[in-house]
Amino acid sequence: MNIGFIGLGNMGTGMALNLLRHCQESGDTLIVFDINETALTDVVAKGAVNGQSTARLCGQCEVLFTSLPSAKEVNLLAFGGDGILANLKEGATWFETSTNELSEWQKVKNEAPSHLTLVDAPVSGGAEGALAGTLAIFLGIDENVLTKFESLLGVFAARVVRMGPSGAGYVTKLAQLHLNYLVAQGIGETLMLGAKANLDLSVLHSVLMSSCARSYVVESYIPKVLDGSYDTSFALGLAEKDMRLITELGQHLEVSMPLGDKVYNTYQQAKNAYGYDAPHLSVVRLMEEQHDQLLRS
Ligand code: NAD
Repeated sequence: MNIGFIGLGNMGTGMALNLLRHCQESGDTLIVFDINETALTDVVAKGAVNGQSTARLCGQCEVLFTSLPSAKEVNLLAFGGDGILANLKEGATWFETSTNELSEWQKVKNEAPSHLTLVDAPVSGGAEGALAGTLAIFLGIDENVLTKFESLLGVFAARVVRMGPSGAGYVTKLAQLHLNYLVAQGIGETLMLGAKANLDLSVLHSVLMSSCARSYVVESYIPKVLDGSYDTSFALGLAEKDMRLITELGQHLEVSMPLGDKVYNTYQQAKNAYGYDAPHLSVVRLMEEQHDQLLRS
């Protein structure tokens, strides 16, 4: 079987390398593509086949994975004569793992030929989880399709969860991210309370870790504020995009989300101040600058 992977960024590289290992053991072939030459060359150097272009890659693959920044890139690749929909092999299945927009994905699905199966399959667990093969993947998928692909998805995901029919994967991802960003912004306020009272922030972190406030965000994000790196594995622009999608989903489902609206506003301010490519925890920098107080251990 030929497996295609397009989008070898922070997440895609880790997922592709796990699929590559699987292919090397099973005799399958991994064909990859990215417009970023360096990202592409790195994975090809490890043994994947260079797909050369989206159209050429799709023409050879029974299964396709994409990991792209946003709906803009997903749609760009999906449509047109050189696109995924026009070129994927007869009967192929496309797992779209990006954090994508429900309404835009519906447009892609509406245009897809009936011989293709499109699955919304967003992931959670960060770049380190992608490399370690410990991601969670949330699927909008029919049960019979999941049965066919469950073990392949298990190559890079420790949790493979069917959330319901098409669209359910994206909604799950946005619900999960909503809480993630609320807490991510909250750690700035918590650390600032400690810093202004001259607490040792490393000790405060260890206390939070053994309290009811413990979470992945507290465990993994706080050290990346305290060391001043703000976590370079995920871009601020992508975080701001996620918060926009979350607030739009709230509007669509008529759920009022005052916390979500406030947090989205802060991510917009941070992106305007530091740029799309700044690390996502730069959102805490806003608070540091406002209080003229760095949060460091
Ligand atoms: P990234 O920007 O690091 O990677 C995206 C890749 O897509 C890049 O290598 C880019 O060159 C490639 N690309 C863009 N346009 C392309 C095109 N036209 N053709 C081929 N390749 C193209 O982003 P990421 O951090 O890996 O995130 C990918 C997706 O996963 C996003 O939707 C993000 O929201 C989501 N996500 C990220 C994380 C994380 O921690 N980084 C966690 C969960 C979900």
